[in-house]
Amino acid sequence: MKFNWEGDRILQDTAIEKKRYIIGEKKSITTDIREWISFEDNIIMKDILKELKENHKLPSTKNRGDFDKRAMIVWQFVAEHVTYVYDTTKYKKGDFWLYPPETYQIKKGDCEDGSFLLASLLIASGISPFCVRVVLGMAHDEAGKSSGGHCWPVYKNELGKWCILESTLDAAPSRMPEADPLTQKGQDFRYEPMYCFNGHHLWEIFPGDVTTAKGKTIGKYFSARKNRVNMRKTKLPAGGWLSHMTGDWEPGHLEITTDTLKLEKFKFHQNAIDVVADAAQDPDFYDWYAPAAHAQTDNDAQGRTNQTKEAAIDAYQARISDLRGRLVSEAKKDARKGLFYLGYLLHSIQDLATHKGITNAQHSYISKMVGTGSDPDHQEENRKKAREYSEKFIETFSKKHPAAYKSMKAYEGRTLPWDRLFRAEKGEILGKDWDLSPGAFIEYSGLAKKFGKIKDQYPIDQTVWDADKVFETLITSL
Ligand SMILES: [Zn+2]
Repeated sequence: MKFNWEGDRILQDTAIEKKRYIIGEKKSITTDIREWISFEDNIIMKDILKELKENHKLPSTKNRGDFDKRAMIVWQFVAEHVTYVYDTTKYKKGDFWLYPPETYQIKKGDCEDGSFLLASLLIASGISPFCVRVVLGMAHDEAGKSSGGHCWPVYKNELGKWCILESTLDAAPSRMPEADPLTQKGQDFRYEPMYCFNGHHLWEIFPGDVTTAKGKTIGKYFSARKNRVNMRKTKLPAGGWLSHMTGDWEPGHLEITTDTLKLEKFKFHQNAIDVVADAAQDPDFYDWYAPAAHAQTDNDAQGRTNQTKEAAIDAYQARISDLRGRLVSEAKKDARKGLFYLGYLLHSIQDLATHKGITNAQHSYISKMVGTGSDPDHQEENRKKAREYSEKFIETFSKKHPAAYKSMKAYEGRTLPWDRLFRAEKGEILGKDWDLSPGAFIEYSGLAKKFGKIKDQYPIDQTVWDADKVFETLITSL
């Protein structure tokens, strides 16, 4: 679908409701939507431009490429300086919109706040308002289901192509993604534009034939747009939906992996980190039934330990060396795939610190029967160890496989707002789909009781590995 990002039909009524309140007054006030991107002359915005010129190489010349460069610099600045927040009820009532200088000063905001600041800065930096719009519309998931209302700036680049500069990212990608391909069906985040505006006009955008399209007011859109897309939800928090079932919201694979790659000595690009951190959660979904993926020993359906310690450790080591082999060969060809393997592998490294070889039955038993205080996944000491292992692993890997490491380290992103792999891509790489299901999780929970009855025959302390020793062997054979 091709959209007319300039806007199809001008709407004369630019009044919008319920976006601002006056302190002390209960009622909201009406505002003109165009007010949100009219700050060229604002002193705070001028200060930002000064900072961009002095410290971020913002060009003031008008040579070829200078305008696209301005757009990229402004985009990167907003991505870095404005933290995306979804739940803003602490200081906002409903969907309260912030003016650009306000967003800049509190350094956080949702999709509208970031978009207004970004668009206003683009114009203030000398880009013509003819080439800038803020778009209001919807976002959809892979299956075409609506994820809620969304707002994003678009910029017409020097080749005349409209590009989406997503304002909620933590870092801008290396290039500007064209807008039209991002509206195509089947992607895990699809944009659907409905309205656009700048400081001068508000327009409707129609799919297909404009002459037959029926117009509506912007007010109708806002009342229909009950929920807004939560951009954080598109990244699984520690354990993804598993967290909903287990109530576990503590730092997990995503957070530990992110923190490790952000360390001064590694300092991967944010877009690379997103790929690795996302992949670090995947073995729980694609390899739920593979004990070796989680540094565990196998058990049968009755909860009986099914594997000797030696065999379990061998299987674990074999898995790591298989993944390492794929990681090394992929990373040199395709950095993004390499990053995926790195995350996938780090999961098993981190699980060594928490599981230390115990079976799923034993794990279920300690976390459910004795109390969550004993759940190895919840112990700070284990999490600290997982961080140590992750750091040491990457450090050693970088020395033993410098070419693969260098290729991943140089990765700065593609021309899509998100770099993490789509489910279909992961399926293709791994040659399988999710094996975790709510049923599989219930089965796991049921193992607690079963194991409780036979626990004396399969003592946990006899299953536990010497994790440090296993890790040392693993590191030397890297
Ligand atoms: Zn695991």
